[in-house]
Amino acid sequence: ADPIDENITPLKSKGKRIGVLTSGGDAPGMNAAVRAIVRVAISRGCEAYAIFEGYEGLVQGGKMIRKFGWADVRGYLAIGGTLIGTARCKSFRERSGRLDAACNLVKNGIDALIVCGGDGSLTGADILRKEWPGLIEELIQNGKLTVEEADPYKHLTIVGLVGSIDNDMPSTDVTIGAVTSLHRICEAVDSISSTASSHSRAFVIEVMGRRCGWLALMAAISTGADFVFIPERPPSENWEAEMCDVIKRHRQLGKRRTIVIVAEGAIDRNLNPIKPDYIKELLIKKPLELDTRVTTLGHTQRGGRPCAYDRNLATIQGVEAVNAVLESTPDTPSPMIGVNENKITSEPLLRAVELTHQVAEAISKQDFRRAMELRDPEFADNYEAYRATTLVDSEEMLVPEYQRLRIGIMHIGAPAGGMNQATRAAVRFALNRGHVPIAIYNGFRGILQENIRELSWLDVDDWTSKGGSELGTNRTEPDIDLGMVAYQIQKQRFDALLIIGGFEAYDSVRELRDARDKYPAFCIPIVCIPATISNNVPGTDFSLGSDTSLNAIVDSCDAIKQSASASRRRVFVVEVHGGQCGYLAVLSGLAVGATSTYIPEEGVSLKTLLADVNHLRRRYGDDKKGTSSGRLILRNECVSKTYTTDVIAKIIETEGSGLFDSRTCVLGHIQQGGASSPLDRIRAIRLAVRCIDFIERQAFPSMSPHEKAGPKVYTNSEESASVIGIIGAQVVFSSVVDLLKETDKKNRKSKRAWWIHFKELVDLLSKWGYSEKEA
Ligand code: ATP
Repeated sequence: ADPIDENITPLKSKGKRIGVLTSGGDAPGMNAAVRAIVRVAISRGCEAYAIFEGYEGLVQGGKMIRKFGWADVRGYLAIGGTLIGTARCKSFRERSGRLDAACNLVKNGIDALIVCGGDGSLTGADILRKEWPGLIEELIQNGKLTVEEADPYKHLTIVGLVGSIDNDMPSTDVTIGAVTSLHRICEAVDSISSTASSHSRAFVIEVMGRRCGWLALMAAISTGADFVFIPERPPSENWEAEMCDVIKRHRQLGKRRTIVIVAEGAIDRNLNPIKPDYIKELLIKKPLELDTRVTTLGHTQRGGRPCAYDRNLATIQGVEAVNAVLESTPDTPSPMIGVNENKITSEPLLRAVELTHQVAEAISKQDFRRAMELRDPEFADNYEAYRATTLVDSEEMLVPEYQRLRIGIMHIGAPAGGMNQATRAAVRFALNRGHVPIAIYNGFRGILQENIRELSWLDVDDWTSKGGSELGTNRTEPDIDLGMVAYQIQKQRFDALLIIGGFEAYDSVRELRDARDKYPAFCIPIVCIPATISNNVPGTDFSLGSDTSLNAIVDSCDAIKQSASASRRRVFVVEVHGGQCGYLAVLSGLAVGATSTYIPEEGVSLKTLLADVNHLRRRYGDDKKGTSSGRLILRNECVSKTYTTDVIAKIIETEGSGLFDSRTCVLGHIQQGGASSPLDRIRAIRLAVRCIDFIERQAFPSMSPHEKAGPKVYTNSEESASVIGIIGAQVVFSSVVDLLKETDKKNRKSKRAWWIHFKELVDLLSKWGYSEKEA
């Protein structure tokens, strides 16, 4: 046994013995869930049991059910698939199999079971719980259990976690594994896109999703595919002609590649499957005559190394699953832990499974409206945003001529993932509405130098994956010369401004608004899309670029941890960005299993450092065989002027008295990431489309279609200078005036650190036991 388990002074024991199994198709993040469940269970005075090979292990028992200690799940976070195995178990579908399973649970003293799997696995779990009293009765009757043995096990607590790459359960917005799978799909499609462009080819790409088009739709959005087929929203009756027409228009505009994404379960309105080979036939025929290839992405989509989002989702849900076990009573229905509007939810498992079946039923009855409704609200929103940025010259989208606007688009602040994708979507949608999108290069410096150009549909075509800023970005705000900025806005006849960037972008909107009295040129709709890796802009839970950055940090930290582990006794102090905001440090700390995170919101003192040194000394001191792993401490760049990254590393090494050494790593600009992550791309498109819509509404608040008097656009309302944000799952516009109360001006960040409680989780999951004893 690992000494940490023996050294733990248990909290007042809750006495539960919690079994955990992973079942159905493997999904990245399942390991993170198992790690969190095991560690939180132990920290709550429970025992944790891993059940290997899904329900197969439960039916067979014996060595397939093993007690797990703290160290048994070490290194789990970064590994794809499921380390405790999964299987499709036929015998569990029969009552006799479930009878054996019940017997094994009782013999091992397990009175709570957490199942991580898809809808099939969760259905099985619910059946087991329903049958439980009968199964126990039968086991007593056939002599497999004595009455005394069975007595403490009158009830079985069951909690479900949804692990499935398909994202096919409507009662949760995202399932564990889906986002990683999307990462792999996007990487593949990005690669295919380069070869398609080179040869001017078409590719028809089949992605997973028998009953759910989430992967296909999100991949299409993220990669700028020309057409997508999903089960919930079959194409129109004459889709063949429609598809060819869309692709023809794209080609006429000069596009050299054609990408069509097809979900495995894609169907037409009469429920006939739409298969990639048939699409290929259409593309090679007249009128398109495209050199076309079919690619089936297959099992690469299972994902492998989990992305930051899946690690954190699985971890947080794993913690909630243990909480649910401890809170459940014999009368509470088995819960399923989900996520809704960015909040962890718990709802009856049975209802969740039922809802999933309703989607399949709606599709089979050709009630596609209902099928779409059953998906989360973002799904439909994203579908519309995709169409709005893919179609060309769609008559029905055009606004009347006198309402067409000249919209200036610029990037402000440091580069961040999603900036280009937001610009691309804004340009595309604006063009479809009949507006004129104009790039302002190099921010406010560029506007002064008249460094501007109208952007065409094709100009932005290959910006789907590019990180950084194609327009050029810097931190200069309009106060560099407000008068000249006003003059240029007037001269260039801008009717609206879309400013994409970080805190400086938000601040610029505020400056322009504040100067409206003096400069009427600023009386136009001005909207900011927050884009900064630091995620510190008021008015949003997520800024574009923060997910790309988290993934870049996690990639680097995985490599650093590997190096630290190879040296056995090494602690890395890794310095991460974030300015005065600890978001990146905490969320990446959670995703890589950092020992500690030092953030400006809490500061770092000698006392904190000593507590961590003590923890490390004991951890390495107990490791007599030298098999211990390397450890990471994440330090935000601004946490302390005294305790710099170097100083912390030196203190740690000196106080470690030779038990371990330390190294530093300053991640620097690597944290801006390369290609934008799929989540940033999707958020960018959704927000950009909404911003164009916002600009239209602000420019012509209550104008009747026939009213054309006065200057084209004049607005001085508070809300016409706003920041768009994602709060929960809602897209929200907040005026810069309203956001003042949420703004910590001195530290240039939002006062609302909604993520701060995850800091405790980082500590709990990496070093409970010792710190608990010390307390
Ligand atoms: P995925 O979404 O990856 O397919 P899943 O959990 O839906 O995951 P299934 O193969 O449907 O995958 O189910 C996994 C296991 O759960 C089955 O092999 C079986 O052991 C159990 N199971 C599924 N449905 C039932 C059921 N109706 N009754 C009892 N057990 C079931």
